Amino acid sequence: MHVTMIFPGIALPGFDSFMKKPTIDANFIDHGLASLSAAAKAAGHSVDLIDLRMLRDWTHFREEVRRRTTKVWALTSWSLHYPDVVRAIRILKEEKEDAIVILGGVHATIKTSQVMANRLIDHIITQEGEISFVKLLGALAERKQPDRLIVGEGPALDEIPWVDRDLFDMSGELATPMVPGMPTPFVTTNAGRGCPFKCNFCQPAERAVFGNRVKMRSQENVIGELQYLKERFKFNSWMAHDDLFFINHRWSREFCVQYKAAGFTEPYICQMRADLMCRYPDVVKQMAESGLAWAMIGFESGSQRILDLFEKETTVEENLKAAAICKEYGIKVWANIMFGAPTETRAEVMETVRMVWKIKPDHLSSSYFTPTPGSGMAEEVERKGLTMVDPFNGSNRTPNEAKMKDTDYEWLTKAIALAYDGGSEERLIALGQLPMQSQETLCASH
Ligand code: SF4
Repeated sequence: MHVTMIFPGIALPGFDSFMKKPTIDANFIDHGLASLSAAAKAAGHSVDLIDLRMLRDWTHFREEVRRRTTKVWALTSWSLHYPDVVRAIRILKEEKEDAIVILGGVHATIKTSQVMANRLIDHIITQEGEISFVKLLGALAERKQPDRLIVGEGPALDEIPWVDRDLFDMSGELATPMVPGMPTPFVTTNAGRGCPFKCNFCQPAERAVFGNRVKMRSQENVIGELQYLKERFKFNSWMAHDDLFFINHRWSREFCVQYKAAGFTEPYICQMRADLMCRYPDVVKQMAESGLAWAMIGFESGSQRILDLFEKETTVEENLKAAAICKEYGIKVWANIMFGAPTETRAEVMETVRMVWKIKPDHLSSSYFTPTPGSGMAEEVERKGLTMVDPFNGSNRTPNEAKMKDTDYEWLTKAIALAYDGGSEERLIALGQLPMQSQETLCASH
C-alpha cells in the first residue's frame, strides 16, 4: 500500500522556508513521521512526503494533492501545528473525497476529543505509532474496517528501524546546526523517549505520549546509527534531540565509553537538567571529554518560588553550579529561561535577570510562559481564567505574543532586553521602579 505523509510544520517558519530560512523549524526533519515511515517501509509499504515548508502556499499544496493518486494520507501534529493540519485535511478531502486520513502525534494524544470531533479524520492514533500505524495500513490494505480511535502500542526502541532519512530532504538539517558555529554537516537523532520529571509546564503531556517509563535505546543501537549517519552524510556535529538526553547516569557513562571506542570525536549538543549535572559532575566531565560541546539547560527562573511553582525540582543554587560545571569542563551553555510565569512578580523577574548575568550563557533562549496544551499549568491557568491563548491557535512559546492576563509584557520585554545585553544593577533597579501598567492599559495594548 502507498501512503503519502504530510508534515505540517509551517506554524513558525511559514511556507517556502525550507533552505530559505536558517532556523531549525524550517529545516530539521521530523523524527516522528520519519520513524513511522521507516516502520511502514520495513513492512513493505511505500511512502512519500509533502513537506509544507517546501511549498509556496495552500494553492501549491492543493496542486500537490491533486497530482497524486494516493488513497491513504497520514499526518502528525503538535498542538502548534493543529490549525494548519485542519486546513490541510479540509483541502485534502475537497480534492479527494475518498481519501483515508490518519492523524497521530502529540496533539491527537493530548487533545483526543478535539481531534475526534473533526469528522474529516478517519483514523486517530494516539501515543506511539510505529506498531499500530503498520497494523492499520495492513488492515486497510485488506479492506477491513479498523477502529477510528487507536491507542498506539509502545515499541521496544531497539526493535524498530532507525528513522527513515530518505523521507525528508536531509539537506536542510545537514546545513543547519542547532547553534551557529557547530560544524556542518549536522544531524539529529533521538536516544530515547519519555522523561521521569514532572515540570508542570510540560507534564503530564510528555507522559501521555510516551507513558510513565523512560525508554532508552541501547548504546550500541545509537552508536550503530551514528556510524551509519557518518558514513552516509559525513556529519561533523550532531544533536541528541531527546527532550532530556542525560537522564540515567549509568546509560550516559556507557554511551561515552562506546562513543569514544567507536572513534567518534564529533561535538554534540543535548538537553540536560541542572540538578542531575550537580549530582553527577563526573558524568558531565566524561561527556565533555567524549565530545559534548553544548548543554541546553532549562534553568527557567532565578526565583526559587517560581521554580517550585513549576515543580521543576531544581534550585537556583543548582542552576548556578551547573553553569559553573559547564565552564569548568569547557561546555558551552544554552540557557532556557522562561519569563511571565503565572503570579510572577517584578522582583522575581529581576532575580532571573540577575541569575542570567551570573550564568553568562553562551546562548540565551528566552520565552514567555505559554500554557502548553496537556500540561498541568495550562489546566490551572485556564481554570483561573488567566490565559489569553486561544486553545486552537496559540501554542507558540516565542516571546513576541502576550500569553497571560495580568502580565505587563511591555515591562517584561525591557527586562528580557536587560538579561540579553548584560545591563547593570542600576538600570535593573530603575526598570523595577517604572509604573505598573493598569489592567485597562494592558487590555488595550494586547
Ligand atoms: S521540562 Fe524537561 S525535565 Fe521537565 S518534565 Fe519536561 S522533558 Fe522532563
